[in-house]
Amino acid sequence: MKNNMASSELDGKVSLVTGASRGIGRVHALKLSSLGAKVAVNYVEIEGASNKAEANGVVETIVGQGGEAIAVEADVRNAEAVKAMVEGVVERWGKIDILVNNAGITKDNLLLRMSEEAWDDVIDINLKGAYLCTKFALRSMMKQRWGRIINTASISGVIGTAGQGNYSASKGGLIAFTKSMARELGSLNITVNAIAPGFITTDMTDRLSDERKEAIRSLISLQRFGKPEDIAELVAFLSSDRASYITGQVIGIDGGI
Ligand code: NAP
Repeated sequence: MKNNMASSELDGKVSLVTGASRGIGRVHALKLSSLGAKVAVNYVEIEGASNKAEANGVVETIVGQGGEAIAVEADVRNAEAVKAMVEGVVERWGKIDILVNNAGITKDNLLLRMSEEAWDDVIDINLKGAYLCTKFALRSMMKQRWGRIINTASISGVIGTAGQGNYSASKGGLIAFTKSMARELGSLNITVNAIAPGFITTDMTDRLSDERKEAIRSLISLQRFGKPEDIAELVAFLSSDRASYITGQVIGIDGGI
């Protein structure tokens, strides 16, 4: 159900959320829509396998609630695909105001056992993907002199995590990218911020063993994993005019680790 007072906050805004078929990105899409934004729900198809049905499910939910959404396929590592995706969104709605670089993967291993492929895949999707999506979405934001770019880093990119050399490097790189882009784009009234979630209940963390989950939980001040909804609240705030004087920041959202 839409909240009348809040529903106008992002009215007229067009958002693109990468990796919005499931997990945290899915909830970002639903939240931005509940505040009035149109939402392009990105998913990826690799070698015939895809979560297109899940992405379409997100679109159906939004449309069922009276919002506007479309599913857009693109592998964020692929420049041509990202360009076509952004052009498709602009063709449909005339612009992009809000970009949430959310798509991300893990391929954890201790460094001596980490394959070059696992290193490249994680860096390419988590870091190069954000570079490509930002580069192509930027044109529209520059023209209108208004934009919000929110990059999904991680606590691992801030403090490092054993067994996540590739993932931590990608998220640390994303933080540095965020800070540079905030300086580069500030004069155009485009804000660029990074969020650094801790441990959030999604497919990504479901893979952890029960022992590892328990060990992590004991380090969290609030003694629980976060929910995607916790993260979506922060992204909604950073997307809004209420956050118009915040840029170049890395905002931790981790229950107090
Ligand atoms: P998730 O449930 O595993 O979902 C990952 C999403 O990324 C999916 O929608 C997936 O799309 C998409 N994706 C993967 N490869 C892609 C590609 N090449 N191109 C486009 N999309 C791609 O993960 P999550 O937990 O929601 O994580 C979302 C973001 O939060 C990630 O950047 C992650 O690093 C970050 N994060 C998560 C946690 C956590 O505890 N969960 C903590 C800190 C940061 P398909 O469904 O189409 O495959």
